Amino acid sequence: MPTMQAILADITTLQVDAIVNAANASLLGGGGVDGAIHRAAGPRLLNECRALQGCETGRAKITRGFDLQAKYVIHTVGPVWKGGSQGEVALLESCYRKCISLAEANDVTSIAFPAISTGVYAFPKEEATQIAIATVSAAVEGTAVIGEVVFCCFSKADLEQYRAVLMQPT
Ligand code: ADP
Repeated sequence: MPTMQAILADITTLQVDAIVNAANASLLGGGGVDGAIHRAAGPRLLNECRALQGCETGRAKITRGFDLQAKYVIHTVGPVWKGGSQGEVALLESCYRKCISLAEANDVTSIAFPAISTGVYAFPKEEATQIAIATVSAAVEGTAVIGEVVFCCFSKADLEQYRAVLMQPT
């Protein structure tokens, strides 16, 4: 089982093999963490993303990290929260699972996740935190590839929530 920890940081600064981007379906950049990643990685990222021709909600695609410390960016498209009856939970779980499987396929040993869908996409934070940790824990069980998982929080309140869930007995 890899180590799992929550930290407070700007994900673009992390020295890990791969950072995850909470992208939109176009993969052509946007606001929030997506904009920050594109700014930090430089214009070659947008160029590589263009060739991918978008990504469906709940899926993930991988690119290089260019000017980032991270070697790869794994772009995933989280669900927009529409009240919970539109498959939002299953789609968010799918995002985390697809990111882990792409990471393993690319020999990524350390990976950092932002809180997918909890910004502009308005997924309720507490439920999103539970989903992130439970889904990643299950997906990395028995992995021989990934040694470190980082949940990169962008506010103190988010950090406290992640740490509380990480400390819960499973
Ligand atoms: P989404 O559209 O999936 O909701 P957002 O980028 O709006 O994506 O927000 C996702 C999460 O990323 C939010 O919790 C937000 O606070 C966080 N975030 C924004 N910028 C950064 C950053 N530079 N590093 C880490 N997390 C960030």
